[in-house]
Amino acid sequence: MPSRPVIRMGHPTLRLTADSVAITEIGTSEFKLLLSDLFDTMKVEGGIGIAAPQINVSKQIALIELPANSERYGTLESSELYTIINPEITVIDSELQGFWEGCLSVPGLRGYVERPRKVQINYTNEFGDQKELIVEDFLATVFQHELDHLFGNIYIDRITDSTKLSYLDEFLEYNSKKPEDSVDE
Ligand code: ZN
Repeated sequence: MPSRPVIRMGHPTLRLTADSVAITEIGTSEFKLLLSDLFDTMKVEGGIGIAAPQINVSKQIALIELPANSERYGTLESSELYTIINPEITVIDSELQGFWEGCLSVPGLRGYVERPRKVQINYTNEFGDQKELIVEDFLATVFQHELDHLFGNIYIDRITDSTKLSYLDEFLEYNSKKPEDSVDE
């Protein structure tokens, strides 16, 4: 299965609210192909998550999978592969936590973003089942970053201190303390 090109900030698709997926669409061969291409693109690009709008498909679909072993992400807990369709997010704990985020659609940059530390996600999975999930800490940031893409938002919008937006090379030279402080999606 092929990976697809990732579109970058400035492409209008990244600023749309993506269409919700019809339940009848889930399970079709075309839909499975889309999920497969999305997965392959995430792997080829080295992301820990990807949203369909990032391959120029304006549908509410995102994949998230933290790798078991990664030099890039250090000692993080790995996660299962989540296929998130038509999500609704509710903040469970509004206390903010900050991570340095990156994005496949904003290559070469890192920015420090504070987000609620615990959220609930109600969504449909790849089998069409209704699911509820509560995530916290690092995984909560990963989910919020990815699901933002389904509603026309990019992490750059969430940066409250613009002095904490950096090129990756300079970030690695001057700001990087621990690899797990950095999220690249
Ligand atoms: Zn992103």
